[in-house]
Amino acid sequence: MSAPLPGIDASTGALRWLWLAAIGAAFAALAVLGARIVTRVDLGQWWVPLVFAASVLGADFASGVVHWSADTWGRDDLPVIGRRLLVPFRLHHVNPDDFLRRNFADTNGDVALLAAGPIAALAMMPLDEAWQRVTALGGFGLCGAGMLTNQIHQWAHMPSPPRPIRFLQNVGILLGRDAHATHHNRPYDAHYCITTGWCNRPLDAIGFFRGFERAITRVTGARPRHDDERYERRYGSGIASFATDD
Ligand SMILES: [Zn+2]
Ligand SMILES: [Zn+2]
Repeated sequence: MSAPLPGIDASTGALRWLWLAAIGAAFAALAVLGARIVTRVDLGQWWVPLVFAASVLGADFASGVVHWSADTWGRDDLPVIGRRLLVPFRLHHVNPDDFLRRNFADTNGDVALLAAGPIAALAMMPLDEAWQRVTALGGFGLCGAGMLTNQIHQWAHMPSPPRPIRFLQNVGILLGRDAHATHHNRPYDAHYCITTGWCNRPLDAIGFFRGFERAITRVTGARPRHDDERYERRYGSGIASFATDD
């Protein structure tokens, strides 16, 4: 007999206002940064599409590294990051559909809180030198795609996302449902990148994360996915899979 599947409570009170303020601040700073780039950078230069694509690729890679770290190491009872970071990742594997219940503020608030400061700093940066313009454009792509990662991940779980989102998923600009379903196959150790998904195949092909796991285990003795396996045992046969339920 397995335990009932857990979910994450919606934020209330001050925390909900904090998420909404962070999302508002991050989007406002991104809009200012975007407006400055459009008015101060010659977007016809050869390096513009390269820097922008590389920055979005960087956001996808970073999403994979954060996701792998949270999935693979640590325990859910660690101070602060246990409750705020690790528990949501653990619950997401055993009850993926719970993510679809989360509202916009809860889905995007914590990433917006982390992103708002760096985006505001980029928005205030002078754009006189070439390196400053490259940094501003790269930061726009990295932070813009990065702050939307949880939203893009939620869209990838929706059986029927909004039509423009479905289009962007189908043309490979955003992570799609089928590609993300690969991650949700036990033991949840592939396709960690959840922004565009562009890095997933190359990183899996070269065994990128397995290599780091072997090195970390050699140095620390820690076993990968140890905590995730505890959740597997706790919820057993009741674990839901979003890949086969539509
Ligand atoms: Zn995961
Ligand atoms: Zn997922």
